[in-house]
Amino acid sequence: MKKFKIITIDGPASSGKTTLAKMIAQKLNIPLLESGALYRLVTYLLIKSGKIVKANIENKEILIKFLKEIFKEIKIELTPVGTNIYWNGKLIKEELKEKEVESTVSQVSAIKEVREFLTELMRGLAKDKSLVSEGRDMGSFVFPYADIKIFLTADEKIRVQRRFKEKLERENYKGKDLYEDVLNNIKLRDELDSQREVAPLIIPEGAYVIDTSYLTPEEVSNEILKIIK
Ligand code: C5P
Repeated sequence: MKKFKIITIDGPASSGKTTLAKMIAQKLNIPLLESGALYRLVTYLLIKSGKIVKANIENKEILIKFLKEIFKEIKIELTPVGTNIYWNGKLIKEELKEKEVESTVSQVSAIKEVREFLTELMRGLAKDKSLVSEGRDMGSFVFPYADIKIFLTADEKIRVQRRFKEKLERENYKGKDLYEDVLNNIKLRDELDSQREVAPLIIPEGAYVIDTSYLTPEEVSNEILKIIK
């Protein structure tokens, strides 16, 4: 029997991945790898450094060099309640949910070199441990040999409502995002994430598909735990 188990949870934006991945990781008491946070981090770092300027992104050599250098200042901690990212010792969390990051992340995550860099990093983080990992290509590309693969879906309207509610509930919400903004962002990300050339969002081979539209998180969690057992 394999010593370490990998459980992947993939799906489109606001399909319930993060909530469910956290519930499962806590239940099994194993670390959680939130891959979206890493793509958001790279986007955030590029914006911060002014490198989001198209010309620079198109220069892939500079991009790779930049990533290698700046990740020396990054510490990633995987816990059952989530992935903590520190930049020079400072926890980076709310920054990753900023509007600018959210509207740019799908363009950044479509860049082959960014995906290669983060895929290698994530495989390194997963080495010699059991974990739950959630994202878009965890079961199809990063961990194709995963023990259990889950794919979550939900109606677009329900996903937009969930994301909108989540934004309103956030402590530092400044009330700038309209419902339409959330809708447009989810539509755009779904489209870019599903249509990109490298590791697009697909249902991984052998994945269990669960439609979470009309289920509570507890119901979905029970279903996943049943599958795992
Ligand atoms: O899951 P989350 O909404 O935080 O992901 C943010 C973005 O990161 C996605 O819209 C997608 O563009 C990118 N992503 C990805 N591959 C993953 C996880 C996230 O391309 N495995």
